[in-house]
Amino acid sequence: MKSFKHVNATTVQQASKLLREGKGKVRLNAGGTDLLAALKDKILPDYPETIVNLKTIPGLDYIREDATGLTLGATAKLADIAQSALVREKYPLLADAVEAVATPNVRNMATIGGNLCQDTRCWYYRYPDQIGGKLVCLRKGGEKCFGLEGDNRYHAIMGAEGCHATSPSDAAVALSALNAQLVVRGSAGLRVIPIAQFYNSFGTDLKSDEVLTEIRVPRPPAGSKQVYQKFRLRQPIDFAIVSVASLLVKENGKVKEARLALGGVAHGPVRAAKAEALLKDQVPNAELAEQAGLQAVASAQPLSKNAYKVEEVKVLVKRAVLA
Ligand SMILES: Cc1cc2nc3c(=O)[nH]c(=O)nc-3n(C[C@H](O)[C@H](O)[C@H](O)COP(=O)(O)OP(=O)(O)OC[C@H]3O[C@@H](n4cnc5c(N)ncnc54)[C@H](O)[C@@H]3O)c2cc1C
Repeated sequence: MKSFKHVNATTVQQASKLLREGKGKVRLNAGGTDLLAALKDKILPDYPETIVNLKTIPGLDYIREDATGLTLGATAKLADIAQSALVREKYPLLADAVEAVATPNVRNMATIGGNLCQDTRCWYYRYPDQIGGKLVCLRKGGEKCFGLEGDNRYHAIMGAEGCHATSPSDAAVALSALNAQLVVRGSAGLRVIPIAQFYNSFGTDLKSDEVLTEIRVPRPPAGSKQVYQKFRLRQPIDFAIVSVASLLVKENGKVKEARLALGGVAHGPVRAAKAEALLKDQVPNAELAEQAGLQAVASAQPLSKNAYKVEEVKVLVKRAVLA
């Protein structure tokens, strides 16, 4: 690693001010489980001169609930969220998704804010500098996305514009089905961003001096069945190839509300709106579940090596409905 200045922030305002003054040469650090690897491999387009520690900001790691729903401070650790009796009882989708992240030691360090803001795992973008020099892909300011023509087995199958990398965050997929909103603060003040608008083809919607401070999760409808399914190659530890977060409410034997969020398919979680609409007011059965799977992938445009992801999504959506 190269040397850098390290600042223990004591307020969000201070962290934002440092970002603004640093003009792209300052990076935030929370648990460090993503950022430190990126620094060691020198994969970022610019190597930061200053690292700002968010964990020293007092009181930013809360997990609490009020009448409107759950609120999480950005530095709440994944392990604490997964083990929270409150989250497990009322927001099991989030607890299960967070528990599916990495390993206990990573979850003990990693924060919810860092999980949502982590960089993509695209193997072209992540290609380590020490093995023959970095690959300057489109995301790093280069001219092309190597995923488009190269080995794209883990790349996007929906909605890619330019960069075909996917978001690796399990938490984001669950939070999408839970209709979460993200609170960010910068020099222009506070913004509340629906999670559906947080991700874009090159990362997140955060402005250069903004800090993610809070995640707001509305109370799920009473009696909702929440399921997180993650298809990965190595069961004990791996990123999702694809995942599906589902929240279904039944009334008088029919689906009253259906929410299906897909992970591993695009630059952020994607709500399967057509499948959700198809399920509404219907009696769930195997045929309907299969139809929902087909609708979920109606807009898919797989690349040369990742059509298998389309099949995986169909299977997981079917299982979600039958669950
Ligand atoms: C072996 C391994 C396996 C993994 N498997 C999975 C997996 O299965 N599923 C999964 O979802 N993830 C997985 N991950 C990724 C892991 O979840 C992330 O590294 C972790 O969640 C990042 O959190 P952090 O607090 O350590 O973030 P950091 O590493 O501290 O930060 C990550 C990025 O987010 C930015 N950032 C952090 N906090 C904020 C904030 N509050 N506001 C604005 N920007 C911020 C940082 O500047 C940095 O760019 C794995 C990681 C490892 C090492």
